[in-house]
Amino acid sequence: MRLYALAFGAHPDDVEMSCGGTLSMLHRHGKSFGIVDFTRGEMGTRGNATIRAKEAKEAARILGADVRVNLGISDSDIERSRKNLLKVVEVIRKYQPEIVFAPYREERHPDHVHTHQLVSNAMFYSGLRKLKTGTLAAYRPRRAFYYMQHRTFIPTVYVDISNDFETKVDAIKAHKSQFFNPASKDPETVLSTPEFMDYLLGRMRYFGRMAGVRYAEPFWTLEAVTITDFDSVI
Ligand SMILES: [Zn+2]
Repeated sequence: MRLYALAFGAHPDDVEMSCGGTLSMLHRHGKSFGIVDFTRGEMGTRGNATIRAKEAKEAARILGADVRVNLGISDSDIERSRKNLLKVVEVIRKYQPEIVFAPYREERHPDHVHTHQLVSNAMFYSGLRKLKTGTLAAYRPRRAFYYMQHRTFIPTVYVDISNDFETKVDAIKAHKSQFFNPASKDPETVLSTPEFMDYLLGRMRYFGRMAGVRYAEPFWTLEAVTITDFDSVI
């Protein structure tokens, strides 16, 4: 199955928080996409691997994902090994995405940094014909868009998610074990406080303001983004 986009995240709710609105927009525009989680998030303070897998499935359904894949790498132990690199190469070759979403290079959580590095490297190596991965043919995606998590950066691209922020919030809330839930007996984390959703909404609103729209998601691209049609940006 060929997909238009693949969104990689270290943990099962990373993609929803960082580029969920953009993925929802792609889906509304008839573009296919998949979510690839590196780990099952089993080291998270709240929930466990089984609960999180169910929540991830529901969140993917809400966003309109065509597939959600888990690479089964150990949470808090995303090694930049050849073995893990080849797992990412294989998934890129299998789905042949035009575009890839991944964490930005600087992050608080080392798992996010390692995910950035593995995805960036795999985007190149997956195009090498002599690097064999079974019957999967060599393939190189056209462009990576790096999303914002804890650390901020000056974006090179903003995506207008004004029509998608509600879907994004619903997808985030599908991760019931991770976010605010007065009935939960798990220890509180930064994510599970009621203020966390305010912060996420505030950030989408802030970047919306910068982009001249209501809500936006920020991205960083290594290559320049070129305009071919001014009507699309004015
Ligand atoms: Zn994460």
